[in-house]
Amino acid sequence: MKYPLDRRSFIKTVTGAAAVVSLGQLPAAFATGPQLSSQSLGDNLWLFTGAGCNVVACKDSDGVALVDGGLEAQSKELLRRVQKDTGADRVHTLFNTHWHPQQTGSNERLAGTATIIAHENTRLWLEYANPVPPQNKPYGPLPAKARPDKTFYWDSVKTQFGDEPVEYGYLPQAHTDGDVYVFFRKSNVLVTGGPVSNQGWPIIDYRTGGWIMGLDDALKTLVGLADDNTKVVPANGPVMTKADLVAQQRMYADIGGQLGRFMRQSLGPDEVIAKAPAAAYEAKMGDSKLFVDQAFRSLWGHMAPDA
Ligand SMILES: [Zn+2]
Repeated sequence: MKYPLDRRSFIKTVTGAAAVVSLGQLPAAFATGPQLSSQSLGDNLWLFTGAGCNVVACKDSDGVALVDGGLEAQSKELLRRVQKDTGADRVHTLFNTHWHPQQTGSNERLAGTATIIAHENTRLWLEYANPVPPQNKPYGPLPAKARPDKTFYWDSVKTQFGDEPVEYGYLPQAHTDGDVYVFFRKSNVLVTGGPVSNQGWPIIDYRTGGWIMGLDDALKTLVGLADDNTKVVPANGPVMTKADLVAQQRMYADIGGQLGRFMRQSLGPDEVIAKAPAAAYEAKMGDSKLFVDQAFRSLWGHMAPDA
């Protein structure tokens, strides 16, 4: 691959770390490394997990296109694994499905060698230090060369990797305001980006343009793209089906409708959380307090209480 492999410095780092702590006291991250694994999604498609988000690789004769890059701390190991499992010697394209660190952690490593594709809003957020929910630790700005260099605004774009027709498109104001899906049409694999989680509730990053009814709209768009055989790859968690997307869309429509009513009653976030509007979904999705708090606050930029 064209990204700097730098095996020697990797070995030096590991052996250096081992020298300063005695055996049996290695920090867990050093002792085990990132728990990366991969599975096939089709003839030339792979799903890599364990790098902070789901990462999909599509191989063609020029190398590999990646949808999302994982966290920076795991990027080197992820790219090694992609090289090993796909047999490709370079990453020629990297999609950032939104600006969060879990998606953009390979940007610096691939800068200058891969075309980085994203929605224009993602590029703009990466020019600044922004708080990453839920901890709100700032992330960014990325160096200019590591920001997306091929952006789009509305609608969808068609391209081709080898014999795989690929469509990517905008999901406005859902998880953030720069969410992108990537659809591998021949293999029938739909990579959803941030609006879909199959590992607990998604974040609604309302500070950078996400909102609950946009999440509902994003699910509707994704449902419209999928058929009963589509392999749906969420941002996190196991591969899903169209039926799973339909269930999530109905869930967000239900919760969003309740939150809208609470807003018109002029309730505050704590009162809304106490009403537990997502209680029916907690068995599958987990504790809903953070999600409800974010979802309710996300309405404030879109609805006046007396509207
Ligand atoms: Zn995210």
